[in-house]
Amino acid sequence: MSVTVRVPAKVNVQLAVGPLRPDGFHDLANVFLAVGLYDVVTVTPADELRVTCSGPDADKVPLDDSNLAARAALALARRHGRDANVHIHIDKDIPVAGGMAGGSADGAGALVACDALWGTGASREELLEICAELGSDVPFSLVGGAALGRGRGELLTPLETGGIFHWVFAVADGGLSTPAVYAECDRLRADTDVPAPEPSAALTAALSAGDAAALAATMSNDLQAAAVSLRPSLAATLDAGTRAGALAAMVSGSGPTTAFLVAGEAEAEKVADALRDSGTCRAVRVTSGPAPGATVLRG
Ligand code: ATP
Repeated sequence: MSVTVRVPAKVNVQLAVGPLRPDGFHDLANVFLAVGLYDVVTVTPADELRVTCSGPDADKVPLDDSNLAARAALALARRHGRDANVHIHIDKDIPVAGGMAGGSADGAGALVACDALWGTGASREELLEICAELGSDVPFSLVGGAALGRGRGELLTPLETGGIFHWVFAVADGGLSTPAVYAECDRLRADTDVPAPEPSAALTAALSAGDAAALAATMSNDLQAAAVSLRPSLAATLDAGTRAGALAAMVSGSGPTTAFLVAGEAEAEKVADALRDSGTCRAVRVTSGPAPGATVLRG
């Protein structure tokens, strides 16, 4: 017997980063949108906890207990006084270390899958609590759709979306470490009075109206300057997508994946072709959002 769960990637349509807190984190106003790139996590009873991974980026995924999927299984098992003897297989389609919360997705997926496999019957609240312990982006991977994250990003309020938003993602060569990007952001803003992060009312209105042009006009990412500072070649990728007609071009989260909001499917193909031709990225993905959160496919 096994359980298979599908989990989406995310893009941050607003990522407002407050000053560095004494505990090393930052307060955020983080508007997440789940998009239709998915990892598929399957758990099967086994003699011991084991992680395997398939997909183009599989060699970049740790297979030991540092894998967020393994940590999720261990956390649920510990709370329910049982062993975590499962084989977790991750079929990975979300770019690794790309600012699209792939590891977080696997954590949420493994949690939901183990809960179903073991018949733990954990409440949604308990699952969300474990997610928040695992990482700031993990609760959103569980719920999907669109949501505002406050605190470190883990305190979620669901947001309405009034339509489908079309996206093109340019996957860069290599990853960027999220902590390194935050550190660079702090360095770049060292002499600035950084305000408390506030969600944009115009942006949430654009999401709720399903208005891509209005969303494009209000999107922002406070980590973009830091990501581009650490990876200057991203400027050329952003420029290539903009010139091809994207409504907005932005670094996705901490990067180095870049996200292009487009008006529709035809525009998406045009921007995707231009990005491929630009030679400034490793791969191009066309998709849309909102996408549902962690979903049991089989089990
Ligand atoms: P975020 O957008 O949440 O900052 P990210 O998309 O930039 O995350 P991930 O793909 O989650 O980055 O990977 C970041 C690092 O986490 C990897 O380099 C890897 O060492 C580690 N990691 C742990 N578990 C996983 C997993 N299941 N899949 C991918 N990476 C994982």
